[in-house]
Amino acid sequence: MIVLKTSRELKIMREAGRIAANALKFAGAAIEPGVSTWEIDRVARRYIEEQGAKPTFLGYGGFPASACVSVNNVVIHGIPKKNHLLREGDIVSIDVGATYEGFVGDNAYTFPCGKVSEEAQRLMDTTRESLAEGIRAAVAGARLGDVGSAVQRYAEARGYSVVRDYVGHGVGAKMHEDPSVPNYGTPGRGVRLLPGMTIAIEPMINQGVKEVRTLNDGWTTVTADGKLSAHFENSIAITPDGPVILTVAD
Ligand code: MG
Repeated sequence: MIVLKTSRELKIMREAGRIAANALKFAGAAIEPGVSTWEIDRVARRYIEEQGAKPTFLGYGGFPASACVSVNNVVIHGIPKKNHLLREGDIVSIDVGATYEGFVGDNAYTFPCGKVSEEAQRLMDTTRESLAEGIRAAVAGARLGDVGSAVQRYAEARGYSVVRDYVGHGVGAKMHEDPSVPNYGTPGRGVRLLPGMTIAIEPMINQGVKEVRTLNDGWTTVTADGKLSAHFENSIAITPDGPVILTVAD
């Protein structure tokens, strides 16, 4: 069931989104060679709690941290660890959510650690821009297939593959609501977008094959071929005036 939000609820979601976006920004700013992924998580958690919000991911399905920190070939759901130190040239995807007054903001961004290769930079740039393409397509009256195909077309035209096993989602009082928001699809197909819908669009784009697998810890999802992956996400609202990004940092 897709839950449409009132303007009062959208106001709260903007605040939840602001907190999630700032947490992401500060966590990203902490990235440098020698810093542990655990420290990155701690920066995000501390900011969220200081704001009177809750880290949405902490304990979600048993997840042990406030942020997912996914390095290089890790696509999503990387578990922060004290003994995982970042290295020059890594690409570091941080995914973090904040729950504020009962509503969730969810967002992700892939940051470079120091100087990264041209290939890594191009993957990050393309993934970020594929998200922007998806958001641009998310206008009232369009369908989810328009959004997914916009992401897919942009990424595949540049030689990358789109992860199929994980998708975006509705977001609101719960982190994962209906509908599912794939990063691939057919224009003109799927759920029609209506004002008041709030969705998280989150392309996961791989340098090599689209297949992924999950490690024995039950969380860490890696590319099947060991090549790089990038991940960007915004929570957005569908409005009569076009898509509005909810996860905006100060
Ligand atoms: Mg999400």
